[in-house]
Order: sequence, then structure tokens, then C-alpha cells
Amino acid sequence: MYDIAVLGGGPAGLAAAVSARVRSKTVAVISNAMTENGLYRSKLVPNYPGVPDISGSALLEAMHAQAEKLGAGFVEKRLLSAVYGNGQWYLGAEDEMIEARALILAGGVVRSERFAGEEKFLGRGVSYCATCDGMFFREKHVVVYGETAAAEREANYLREIGCIVVYLSRRDGKGALADTIPFLRMRTLEVCGEETVQRVLVDGETIQCDGVFLLRPSVAPVDLLPGLALEEGHIAVNRAMETNLPGVYAAGDCTGKPYQIAKAVGEGQVAALSAVAWLDQRKDG
Ligand SMILES: Cc1cc2nc3c(=O)[nH]c(=O)nc-3n(C[C@H](O)[C@H](O)[C@H](O)COP(=O)(O)OP(=O)(O)OC[C@H]3O[C@@H](n4cnc5c(N)ncnc54)[C@H](O)[C@@H]3O)c2cc1C
Repeated sequence: MYDIAVLGGGPAGLAAAVSARVRSKTVAVISNAMTENGLYRSKLVPNYPGVPDISGSALLEAMHAQAEKLGAGFVEKRLLSAVYGNGQWYLGAEDEMIEARALILAGGVVRSERFAGEEKFLGRGVSYCATCDGMFFREKHVVVYGETAAAEREANYLREIGCIVVYLSRRDGKGALADTIPFLRMRTLEVCGEETVQRVLVDGETIQCDGVFLLRPSVAPVDLLPGLALEEGHIAVNRAMETNLPGVYAAGDCTGKPYQIAKAVGEGQVAALSAVAWLDQRKDG
């Protein structure tokens, strides 16, 4: 059980982790691999104070190393669910459950997108996690949708355990995908069937399948926490970075513009200090 769980290993989440550790709270950062962060590809960050000639990857690596050195825990997985009960959060990161008392949302800008039929067949052939559900589809036909190298690796894993895989993406190129897996570039996807998934329509073309793995890198905050208040598409926060949910804070791009590292870092620190104060108050009470 952690004092604080942080969703997102970008500048906001890492700054939050650093401040939480400085205040001696246990903290877990749940995030996709750092290499998947858009900033990682930036050759030069010209406007972050104090480090004028640094690249995005070097800056992220330095922030990550600092948080790690201070004792932050890292869970390099996709956070897929968040449930509150018994005074704590149960956070489902693929096949792992992380428990924490307070939560800081720092997942960056995430669009909420649902494919037609996705919700209807969720748990009835539609899955968000290859590691969790892959075994149910051994020797069966599955379609995997993804946009990241991590999703390509998960598709390879499904192939390795005996699934017959077709991979769909809006991205160009097969990337890390195994040569044995057919790759289709797509624009639209619809999941169809009766009781369970039987086929998908990809840009209007039918592919028969038993399962559909939708491996998006992130989940929109309102899909994770349905009661979360938004303001103009971003998470609504006050100056203490409190959301409308008790013990839940937000920081960085997910709270609004400007989408900048310095703002993300500052908000991450404020969110952590607010979470620390809230935890300490609860202990006393
Ligand atoms: C190419 C590029 C260049 C840039 N250059 C500059 C610059 O020069 N100066 C500047 O100030 N800003 C720059 N920015 C903007 C800056 O990168 C962002 O403002 C900053 O990274 C925001 O930090 P954040 O922590 O809020 O979000 P992010 O950095 O986006 O981090 C969020 C992380 O959370 C992860 N995540 C989200 N949901 C989940 C989930 N469900 N499970 C697991 N992980 C999840 C994401 O994958 C991501 O890694 C640039 C951005 C890009 C893309």
C-alpha cells in the first residue's frame, strides 16, 4: 500500500514523485515507458530554466533518475482502472493491482475515444490487456489495435502464446511487430457480434475474429474516474491542484494549457504537497 500513486511518468508526475519522497511519503509512479512520451523525441528543449542545451530524453531521464534515487517506485504498465473502496484506491495496471491512499493524475493530454461496439462487447471479446486476457484466446483469431511499440510487443506476445493475430494501427510501418503478423493501416473500426465478438469492420471491410485487443497507451481521466469534473476538456482543479474528488489531485498538461514542462513541474509539486497535507490531516483525524 502506497501513500500516493501517481498516474504518468512525465514531468508533472516525476516532479510530484520527487516532492512526495522529500516529504517521506511512499509513492508509486504508474506509467508507460518513458520512450513512449512525445517529449522523449525532442532534440532540444530551449526554454526549461537552468538547462539550456538539454534534449527531451535527457531531461526526462534526469527527472526519472532523481525520483528513483529518492525512493519512488515505478510500475511501467498502462493504468486501466481505478476503483475507490475502504478509504483507498485500487489501481489496475494491466496484470498488477496497486493500492494507494491518495492519487495524483498526471497523464498528459488524452483524448477520449471509443470505437463503435467497444463498450457493448467489453469483457465479451473486447479486452484492453493482452497480458491479462491473452490466454483466453489461444488458437483463436484476434485483432489487435495499437499505436505504440509497447502495443506491437503485446501483439507479438499474443502470437507467441498461440493466438492468430491481425494488427491494426493508424501509424505507418510495422515497427517492432513480428513478420508473421499481418499489419493493416486503418482509419475506422467497428466491433460486431451477437453475444460475443464475431468480427470487426475495418474501414468497412470485414475481418472474422473471436477477440479484439484495444491497446491504447492511455485512458481518458473521465473513463478512469467517472465522477471527475472537467472544464473545457481538461481536469478541473483549484490552485492547490485539488480535483472535485477527495484525495485526488491533477497536474500538468491534463489540467490545461500552456502545455509546457515548467508548468507541469510546478503543478506536480503543488499536487504532491497538497496530497501530503491531506494524508497528514487524515492521519490526525
Ligand atoms: C516533441 C515535443 C517537444 C516539446 N518541447 C517542449 C519544449 O521545448 N518546452 C516545453 O516546455 N514543453 C515542450 N513540450 C511539451 C511538454 O512535453 C509537455 O507540456 C509536458 O511533457 C507535460 O508533462 P506531463 O507530465 O503533464 O505529461 P506527459 O509528459 O504527457 O506525461 C504523461 C505520461 O503519462 C502516461 N500515461 C497517460 N495515461 C496513462 C495510463 N493510463 N497508463 C500509463 N501511462 C499513462 C503517458 O504515456 C505519458 O508518458 C514538448 C512536447 C513534445 C511532444
